[in-house]
Amino acid sequence: MRKPFVAGNWKMNLNKANSVALASQLSDIDVGETVDVAICPPSVYLDCVSTALGDGQVRLGAQDVYYQEKGAFTGEISPAMLADVGCRYAILGHSERRHVIGETDELINKKVHAALAGGLIPIVCVGELLEQREAGQTMDVIRAQFTGSLANLDAAKMENVVIAYEPVWAIGTGQVASPEQAEEVHSDLRKLLENSYNQEVAQSVRIQYGGSVKPDNALDLLAQPNIDGALVGGASLKADDFAAIIKAAKV
Ligand code: PEP
Repeated sequence: MRKPFVAGNWKMNLNKANSVALASQLSDIDVGETVDVAICPPSVYLDCVSTALGDGQVRLGAQDVYYQEKGAFTGEISPAMLADVGCRYAILGHSERRHVIGETDELINKKVHAALAGGLIPIVCVGELLEQREAGQTMDVIRAQFTGSLANLDAAKMENVVIAYEPVWAIGTGQVASPEQAEEVHSDLRKLLENSYNQEVAQSVRIQYGGSVKPDNALDLLAQPNIDGALVGGASLKADDFAAIIKAAKV
């Protein structure tokens, strides 16, 4: 039985005061035992958000990590530094990093290995562009990202990875994938896990859906058998909306 996992990606939003205030509101949510929850603020606010969250049930995640342990890598942050400020998770290969910053599967794969070695749980994002979906290439794209970003992970490591299916055309657009569209890809991803590893790995890895998840569509998406939670952008910036999505994941 996979425990649903809801993560909020704050992207490059909020300031220090807003971040602390939002984290304090979220730390009051009664998350319970049946769902995991994390928020991923901008890296400069990780430390103060960590303090605001305290020892509560809402955990901390980063929006990225670098793959080296330390040294002359100006502007980068290592897995150990993230763990040091209380991070448990790191989002890797988000579509904005793939398509705006230009990250490749090869780079993402190095980050996945480094995150796991540093004790972080990677949330690895995959997803197709609109033109790729319209050209019938969705699963080719997902397969290539899966194979490239998750290369050379043995079964034990893979079981510590979370996958987020995020169709790029649905991110920040308000244009959500239908539950059927999302479930089709999630179920294919699970088959990919089974073919690449085994039934046990396929049944244990959590696959989140991301792309305009809101309180009014969360229930239908999360009711799908292969959707194990949500990676939430815009709606994670409002405590009430994020709380409603967490509630939907508990049903
Ligand atoms: C995201 O940032 O990963 C995301 C899915 O954003 P939104 O929920 O705003 O579409």
